[in-house]
Amino acid sequence: MKRLLKLPLRFKILIIMLFVVTLVVSLITFTMSRMFHSDKTTYIHDLTSIMAVNASQEANTILEGYRNRLQVFTRLIYDREMKQDLKSKYLRQHFEDFREFVGITVYEEGLDPVSVFDMNSLQNAGLTKDDFVSFRREKPLPLAQVQDGSVYIENTTITDSLPAMTMAIPHRYSKLEKPAVVSAIIRLDDLLGLAKRSGVFETFIVDSSGTILAHADEARVKNRVKADWIEKINVAQLDKSAGTSVEYEIAGEWMMGGYSKIAAGDVLIGVQIPKRAAYLTARELLNNLLIVSLLLLIISAVLGLFWSRRITRPIEKLSDASKEIGKGHYDVNVQINTRDEIGGLAESFNTMATEIDSRERALKDAQAALVQSEKMAAFGQLGAGIAHEVKNPLAGILGFAQLSLRKLDKENPLYENISVIEKETKRCRDIIDNLMKFARQEQVTHALTDINSVVEDAVTILNHQLGIHQVQLDKELSPDLPKVLINSNQIQQVLMNLIINAQQAFEGEPGHVVVRTGIGKDGNVEISVNDNGPGIPDEIRSKIFEPFFTTKPTGKGTGLGLSVSYGIVKDHNGDIRIESEIGKGTTFVMSFPVGEALKV
Ligand code: ADP
Repeated sequence: MKRLLKLPLRFKILIIMLFVVTLVVSLITFTMSRMFHSDKTTYIHDLTSIMAVNASQEANTILEGYRNRLQVFTRLIYDREMKQDLKSKYLRQHFEDFREFVGITVYEEGLDPVSVFDMNSLQNAGLTKDDFVSFRREKPLPLAQVQDGSVYIENTTITDSLPAMTMAIPHRYSKLEKPAVVSAIIRLDDLLGLAKRSGVFETFIVDSSGTILAHADEARVKNRVKADWIEKINVAQLDKSAGTSVEYEIAGEWMMGGYSKIAAGDVLIGVQIPKRAAYLTARELLNNLLIVSLLLLIISAVLGLFWSRRITRPIEKLSDASKEIGKGHYDVNVQINTRDEIGGLAESFNTMATEIDSRERALKDAQAALVQSEKMAAFGQLGAGIAHEVKNPLAGILGFAQLSLRKLDKENPLYENISVIEKETKRCRDIIDNLMKFARQEQVTHALTDINSVVEDAVTILNHQLGIHQVQLDKELSPDLPKVLINSNQIQQVLMNLIINAQQAFEGEPGHVVVRTGIGKDGNVEISVNDNGPGIPDEIRSKIFEPFFTTKPTGKGTGLGLSVSYGIVKDHNGDIRIESEIGKGTTFVMSFPVGEALKV
């Protein structure tokens, strides 16, 4: 199946990095937030419950204080020996001393309730005694419940200016069978102060009917709002000395609350906080973690890009270089200087490219040599055919010319003409002979020969002739060369051809020709003829071995010297090559194989 999405290596690395970083960061964040969350939950539960217990203890002290004062009032009211005017005086005195107390009411069975009020407090609140009397008429005190011996507490706020509660206790000084009930209207200032103490946690006190008695939000107290969520909490199971912590929902908002019961009166104190607020720090921590994670992701993305670029750039370079090689440009060199595997790969790649390059060149050279040798073979065959056809008629012409010359006087006007025929026919015969040599039509014998001696002979023969043309001829012979299987006459002829060609290349100018012998790279024995002449231009280099190719004027060159030399060298299983540079000179190098059996 064809792949639709082709992602570069760089992006794959990037995606993997991002995936790993995201995974790690998410795991850390998740674990941390889980740990923090559970830790925080326990902490908030403990805290609310401790706060509730503490607040309840404080409230208890306040309420106990009120009860004691109420008992002081009660004893005074029930002091039957004290005169009325003195009692009134003391009562006033008590109201002054116990500023929280607004009024006292005594309930005795069979009698109308009797109330005493602190008139100053009533006036300040804009109330009259009747307001409380009518309030009680509408909402009578649960006397039976109070007579059972417990302290009864209830929110009795009639007007906003006087948040107050009723505290009722039984009184047993009465001679009646059932105890009398003494109740007091007490300002809620102390309890409200307690509820307002914490800014973060919502502290509140609820009376036995579930009405809020104290709260930081005074409106709830003044309006005698019911704390209806209390129904959701199993208050009955609350221990009076210990607190409990619960989670519940108020109007869609989840709360965590600590609750404790107060010993004095059937009163419940609660400390609650919305879960949302409790976990605010946890959420902040999570947000911070998220920001850090995002930053980490960005950093890792940048680093990933940079890093993957470092990895893929060399690979791209290698890929480009491969494409170049594919196009046949082998002279590539990939510059990667890293010491890692990719650096090693680049090094191997460069070596491979160099190797391919040199092989390619060698292959081209071999191909050119093959073409050349094929061409030469074709020329040889052609030459040999022509030579064969022309040789016999030419011998006839020469024979008859020489016969005619012998029969003619030198004064005869034909003598001169027939001499020319003889001379030109001889020239033609020489050319034919050379052509036949090139075509290797002759049978020659080969013998193991010291190549140096062949060179020395040729140099000796030509030394004088070159000297005449101001060309110095030197030899540099390598000693102890292995002998090669050659026909020494033929190789000498080739050598002389090359030396004369070199001398002729100087065209009368002084020059220097050096003949060298030695062992080539492939182990073959080599003879080279080097001159510092004009060199051979590239365009004719491939043609100079062809028969009749010459750059020399007619009559001077036949163009057969090199082709005959080529034929001879090839006949020896040898090779001949040219190294030439324009203006610097030419070197003809002949090489002859040395078989193991021939090494001496
Ligand atoms: P010829 O010498 O009769 O011209 P060759 O086959 O010997 O025929 O040489 C062919 C051609 O090769 C020469 O005409 C010349 O242009 C060139 N040549 C041969 N040897 C040299 C050399 N040493 N320096 C420059 N050119 C050379």
